[in-house]
Amino acid sequence: MELRSFEKLFQMAKIINSRFEISEILQVLVEAIASEITQADLVGFFLKQPDGTFRGYTGNKLPVDITQLIIDPGKDKFVMDIVNSRAMDYIPNTNNDLRADPEKIKLLKIQSLLGIPVTVEDDIYGLVFIHDFGKPMNLTEEQIEVTEAFVNMASVVIRNIQMFQKTKHLLERQKLLLDTTNALSKSLSTHEVLKTCFHFMQKASGAEDIGIHLYNEKERTLTPYHISSIHVAESEWRGKHANEINLNIDSDRLFYEVVTEQKAIAIPDVFSDPRPNYQACKTFGIQSLLLIPLVANGKVFGVVAIPSIQTTRSYTDYEIEFCQSISDMSAAALSNTIHAENLDNIVKQRTIELQQANFKLEGLVKELEFLNELKNDFIASLSHELRTPITAVKGSNDILHRCILGDLNAEQKDLLEISNKAISRLLNQVNELLDFAKLENGKFELSFSEVAFDEVLDSALRIVEPLLDKKKQKIIVKENLKISLPMDRQRIEQIILNLLSNANKFTPKNGTITVNSYLNEQALEVEVRDDGIGIPADKQKYIFTKFYQANNQMNGTGLGLAISKQLIELHGGRIWFESTEGQGSIFRFTLPLERTLRE
Ligand code: ADP
Repeated sequence: MELRSFEKLFQMAKIINSRFEISEILQVLVEAIASEITQADLVGFFLKQPDGTFRGYTGNKLPVDITQLIIDPGKDKFVMDIVNSRAMDYIPNTNNDLRADPEKIKLLKIQSLLGIPVTVEDDIYGLVFIHDFGKPMNLTEEQIEVTEAFVNMASVVIRNIQMFQKTKHLLERQKLLLDTTNALSKSLSTHEVLKTCFHFMQKASGAEDIGIHLYNEKERTLTPYHISSIHVAESEWRGKHANEINLNIDSDRLFYEVVTEQKAIAIPDVFSDPRPNYQACKTFGIQSLLLIPLVANGKVFGVVAIPSIQTTRSYTDYEIEFCQSISDMSAAALSNTIHAENLDNIVKQRTIELQQANFKLEGLVKELEFLNELKNDFIASLSHELRTPITAVKGSNDILHRCILGDLNAEQKDLLEISNKAISRLLNQVNELLDFAKLENGKFELSFSEVAFDEVLDSALRIVEPLLDKKKQKIIVKENLKISLPMDRQRIEQIILNLLSNANKFTPKNGTITVNSYLNEQALEVEVRDDGIGIPADKQKYIFTKFYQANNQMNGTGLGLAISKQLIELHGGRIWFESTEGQGSIFRFTLPLERTLRE
């Protein structure tokens, strides 16, 4: 190579090394070649196309639009040879060498032709084409050598720029992934996670429309969840899916593959692939489609759909992988928030149901309270009404019994005695009912006075004496405290009588009943103990419940203890018991020595 040529090479190296745009480098290259081969009519660079043809990209100042020129190696053996050998070739005379496309040779009247491949990493990047428009170029060896050196130098620079751009891309992608992780870690609700996912997915894919469908494993269906789209509103998208499209993996081969194989699938032209759902593609104008599974805990719970609307788009493996990475990152966060929000919704739903049930119950309780009040009023008025005629009958019986109206024979007296006892029992029960009704409706009033307790106990003991005698039961009064304290005398006697008569009722013949009283802190404590049948453990908790009877074989109303409890509590005291089935019971109650404000 001549010194002059080295200088030119050096000049060109200086220029192209300061350029970062491949188009500029190619322009410098063709101009340098044109200035070296001045006899050439066309110096052009032809860029390799994805279909294997070469399209005019840039040239020296030409009267023709080079970008309209396409060289097809299939029709041009000369180019095919260069592509296969990756080496430059020269046809000094096209009349003797017929390899080049005859159509072009004729059209442009080409006499001589030089072709040099621009190779980058063993791949053809493009071709430099140099020829005349009718006058042979008669290239010297020096010219060809220098031109080849220009092209090689440009190839190296293009390779460097490409490598630089690749590294730059790689860094950009890594940064995007890092940004996605950061943004996801700050997204707490489903809404925020979706926003982040859509934002980064759009950045990664360059797509404007992204939809997410949730997968129901049991029903094998996909339902539209959310979209970010410039073509369709979310409500319209959902509506169309609900009315026209049924996404079931058993009838949709594309979704089936994505879900079962857990892999992303890109389809550049949906209508030339048998798998997509044509109905859905037609409805939304989808031409290309990228589907990416959303996988959490090893299971697909949704699919990200990235369609190209009214335009086609193909994705490189690298781009698909990148979108899949973003989808994987979003999937874990999305599945967590969806799960949490579902739980939240269930709790909200249950709370509403509970509130409604409570509302109904409140109504029922009010109704029951009202009915209960009615019942108590009824019991009160009925017992009141019953008491008058019973008292009248009792009075008449007494007159007869006292023989005021004439003597009675022994049989008549016996009958009268039986009738009297029955009437007394009836009167007691009616009185109990009346007390109960009054207590329940809060219309009960105590009449307090200072009363000697021993007198009250004595009086009660006298009343039960005949009953005890009848069953030959022994009564032991351990202590009968002579102490005065405030009480409603009649009611306290009623309580002691109730306890004593229960002890009598539920203790077999010859049993023993023990009564005791003592002072305990600020109260008088009274105890009635028997060695009778006792109360079964499982029934003890109901003993103070109104109308409850543990042994229904005995007569009575089941009200005595319920009333006693309320009366004792109205006095400010309390009542309780201990009992063992088959061994006996101890009932105790307290009465405060002084009336407190609470009472
Ligand atoms: P009644 O005596 O009218 O049935 P009470 O309210 O006085 O109603 O008593 C409720 C139930 O408690 C009784 O039916 C009985 O089963 C049980 N009970 C009460 N006192 C005794 C006792 N001393 N021994 C065994 N069971 C008793």
